[in-house]
Amino acid sequence: MKIIEHLENDHKPLFSFEIIPPQRGKSVSEIIDIVKQLKPYNPPFIDVTSHSGEASYDELPDGNVKRRIRRKRPGTISICGIIQNRFKIDTVAHILCRGFTREETEDALIELNYLGIENVLAVRGDEVNYKKMYSKDRSVNEYAIDLVKQINDLNQGKYLDDIISADPIDMSIGVGGYPEKHFESPNLKTDIQYLKQKVDAGADYIVTQMFFDNSVFFEFVKSCRDAGITVPIVPGIKILNKVSQLSFIPKNFFVNIPETLVEEMMENKKHVREIGTNWSYKQCEELLNHGIEYIHFYIMNDTMAVTQVMDKLRK
Ligand code: FAD
Repeated sequence: MKIIEHLENDHKPLFSFEIIPPQRGKSVSEIIDIVKQLKPYNPPFIDVTSHSGEASYDELPDGNVKRRIRRKRPGTISICGIIQNRFKIDTVAHILCRGFTREETEDALIELNYLGIENVLAVRGDEVNYKKMYSKDRSVNEYAIDLVKQINDLNQGKYLDDIISADPIDMSIGVGGYPEKHFESPNLKTDIQYLKQKVDAGADYIVTQMFFDNSVFFEFVKSCRDAGITVPIVPGIKILNKVSQLSFIPKNFFVNIPETLVEEMMENKKHVREIGTNWSYKQCEELLNHGIEYIHFYIMNDTMAVTQVMDKLRK
């Protein structure tokens, strides 16, 4: 079933989750255990992130340096297949511009379609230390909007090559939104204009970057509505559980962490897990009281924190 149908028709509130594939060399059993723990909470959908190749450098005994390009976390499509077909939970595969040609993207979408997966989240991809070289006969998507257009074309049976009587695929498309603006954007208004273009190009719904202050989200939704964006906007929630995240999260996700939360965590370092869980619980409670009907948790494979919040919310 498509995410937009869940968002519009399911009994509310809805709580969805986002997981990351295991690191290269690790077993998929880690993911299977996570999904087993999440299934009792009846998630309408589970997102699986995608990761492009990164460069690593090995110094050789002769003093030369060998560069290796690897995807640290491969397996998005097969994990989606497992969740969709073994656990019967709708999955959303994240699809990236960066690190993939449009030809590779078309193949990935065909595979997802064969697996019965009807949902993708189209994002540009995080900055990595490696820029893939493309041969002249390949093309690339620069921004997420280009990816949305490619998926939309396939939804209408338009493949990169002209194929007579081609069967269309059938994908619901989500895109990312940034309540505190995307870090490259000159201002929030410009960012929202680009977000509207993604929606006008065919995105069915928006999932936001994590935020820790609900007033930022409420303001963002208002600005989106004022800009003419009418699709569902799903808030993204991350539960803090380590002091190191107080610098890691702003550095990597370009979001603010409120003073009171930082002070509380710094003064009670032994209880950061409890403080983070309690903060997210209160955030969710306020969102629900405000009439928000769906919440997406970035669980980054820490099921303990999210199940604690869910258990409190369900009381
Ligand atoms: P875009 O919408 O392409 O925007 C990128 C920047 O360009 C913005 O500043 C925007 O304002 C600007 N812009 C947009 N269109 C244009 C245009 N036509 N001309 C000029 N400027 C433009 N990263 C991963 O690597 N893997 C994941 O699985 C992943 N999942 C994510 C899930 C969610 C819900 C979110 C919010 C982000 C996720 N990311 C993921 C991170 C994301 O890839 C990065 O934040 C990336 O830098 C931007 O992605 P985007 O799709 O928002 O980009």
